[in-house]
Amino acid sequence: MIDFAFDRASSVADALRLAAQPGAVFIAGGTNLIDLMKGGVLNPLRLVDVNRLPLDRIEPLPDGGLRIGAMVRNSDAAHHPLVRERYPLLARALLAGASGQLRNMASTGGNLLQRTRCHYFYDTAFAACNKRTPGSGCAAIDGQNRIHAILGTSAHCIATHPSDMAVALAALRAQVRLCGPRGERTLALVDLHRLPGDTPQRDTELADGELITAVELPPGGFARHSHYLKVRDRASYAFALVSVAMALELDDGGLIRDAGLALGGVAHKPWRLPAAEQALIGRRPDGPAAQAAADLLLAGARGFGHNDFKLPLVRRAIARALHTAATGS
Ligand code: SF4
Repeated sequence: MIDFAFDRASSVADALRLAAQPGAVFIAGGTNLIDLMKGGVLNPLRLVDVNRLPLDRIEPLPDGGLRIGAMVRNSDAAHHPLVRERYPLLARALLAGASGQLRNMASTGGNLLQRTRCHYFYDTAFAACNKRTPGSGCAAIDGQNRIHAILGTSAHCIATHPSDMAVALAALRAQVRLCGPRGERTLALVDLHRLPGDTPQRDTELADGELITAVELPPGGFARHSHYLKVRDRASYAFALVSVAMALELDDGGLIRDAGLALGGVAHKPWRLPAAEQALIGRRPDGPAAQAAADLLLAGARGFGHNDFKLPLVRRAIARALHTAATGS
């Protein structure tokens, strides 16, 4: 039996107060946390339920952007008229994730905080996992690493971040609103998740007791030309081997005026490089442009054996996403 305490927070301030107790973690939809608890990977002493916090609204911002509350369910965000109309890239990425039932439960904040799907992390029969047990080693580096990272890896961990939504948000230059014991702050989405380095047990830059309250999207959502391409082992309910979030603004002559580009399934965080986006600007959305961006994004990439196929796959996926975003086909 797993023994833990359970509190239901009635306000953000109440949630922060409850989370200050030893061994407390927030729970929203629970679509990942409950699995981790059942598997003995995580054993929190206390769950702080944030499902009733007033963070479940999608609101237009005065500057033309959009705020999505942390408790908005993934299904509701994907089907919201303002998301579909202004940020179809985000809607598409959300619908590429998980299953309908899971999307009905999963929250915006929880989606960002889901843990890697590295098999060794979930299976406690394997002792070596620095993310689960710091200092124990990494079974994946010389093990079955087909789903693992090719960018930003360390000698301590080669796990990937599993969220599709986060990849689209990175390309759309989203910001994340946080509230914690030291007050409120805003982080760029691309700065929320960390590379593993020598502390792979830490997935994000969140401070202890800090809560995600919202995601904010800037105006100009690349609504006319965007595409989320997810390459996976089966057509649904599978995590990305490689994904590409491509967002373009084209001028009247068909040249790229602005671009957002991020990769999923390749690193411990959504992989975005402003230089790769710059490399697309002023060019036609064609094969050579895609390869120029891919050259930059893949600088320093390496495979670990089973996942070597991801290097050429990323190149092909970028080319296809660029073509589809530009032409709609
Ligand atoms: Fe653990 Fe990371 Fe190695 Fe997977 S890749 S076994 S999560 S340390």
